[in-house]
This record gives sequence, structure tokens and C-alpha cells, in this order.
Amino acid sequence: MPIAPAPSFFDTKIEGDTLEAIRADLGECTRCRLHLTRTKIVFGAGNPKAQLMFVGEGPGRDEDLSGEPFVGRAGKLLTQMIEAMGLRRPDVYIANIVKCRPPENRQPEKDETATCSPFLVRQIDAIAPKVIVCLGSTAAQYILATPQSISRFRGEWFDYRGSRVLATYHPAYLLRNPNAKGDVWKDLQKVMAVLGLDPKPKQQSAAAR
Ligand code: URA
Repeated sequence: MPIAPAPSFFDTKIEGDTLEAIRADLGECTRCRLHLTRTKIVFGAGNPKAQLMFVGEGPGRDEDLSGEPFVGRAGKLLTQMIEAMGLRRPDVYIANIVKCRPPENRQPEKDETATCSPFLVRQIDAIAPKVIVCLGSTAAQYILATPQSISRFRGEWFDYRGSRVLATYHPAYLLRNPNAKGDVWKDLQKVMAVLGLDPKPKQQSAAAR
């Protein structure tokens, strides 16, 4: 008789898991080679009860130095995107597929992603956001378990561990390709509709002034 494979540890949610417990388990991680060149671990930051979570690829130089996700040029654009949605950074949670900077900002290798991502999965389970926005192909291809190009499924809705997931272009891509900003804004408007967010502060009518 064939034996059903045991469920992987991360197929099931850890009851009562917290960001603090996950951070403690991560420790001063040496599980993959990225620890050799990192300055600081970039665990993730924001509201532990966020309805909206962003997942990027991995820390860059500024993030490696500060220990905070998305604080460089791409991060400033992400902040503008969040604010355009009528939110502030502390309202959302921001994390990455890998928590240590890949040298020269190369893409994370498969084994690095496999080693690091279980901690991200625990963060997602602990936060249980209503919506996850994958920023760029590394995050999207990992979360959605697909090798397809992000341009094939950008702006579409998927389900992942009880959250709705949408992939859009990475803000670093937008810095190089500002023409794609309109596509990203369309994607973010879909997210806003699901979260019940209103983009513009309501115009006060003359009567109400
Ligand atoms: N790019 C990412 O994908 N993540 C960061 O934290 C910063 C830049």
C-alpha cells in the first residue's frame, strides 16, 4: 500500500504563533550563505495585525545597513504607493522572501529561498492579512509556486493560506520603467476595493464647510 507522505511542517499553521516567537526562532541566523555577507537581518516591519501585507524579494544595501525593509529608493516609492492607497506604512506589514541581502543585489538562489521562506510563511500565518501584494517576480513566483513570468498573471487574484494574493511590479522596476506605474496603480486599486479603501480624501461639499 502506498504510504501518504507526512504533511510538511509548514503545511499546517502553528497555533498561537507570534512575530516575536518567529523572530526568536530565527535568531542570529546562519542557516544559509547569505549570513556571511549581511550586516543586519531584515525581519520585516509594520502592523502585526495588518490587513495588507507586502512581500518583496530581499534586502538591498540600505535595508542591510538599517535592518528595515524597503527604506532605499524603491522603498520610498513603496511608501508613496501605500500613501496613495490612503494608508500609512505602520498600517501595513512589509517583509521579503529572504531576510539577508544577496551580494550585489543578485536574485536569491533556490536553496536560500527554501531555507528562509518558512519564516515568512510563519509571519503570514501569524498576521493573517486579508490581502498579500507580491512585489515583483521573485515574491510572486515563490508565493504562487509558478515559474511563469509575472506579466502573465499580474493584477489577478489568487488564494494563499487564507489570504487573497495579487502580484504587481516591484517598485525598483517602476524606477526603471515609469510607464508601468499606471498598471501598478490599477492593481492597487483592486486591492483598495477589496479592503474598502477610498483613494482620495472625500471632497467636502460647500454646504459642509
Ligand atoms: N527590494 C526588496 O525587494 N526588498 C527590500 O526590502 C528592499 C528592496
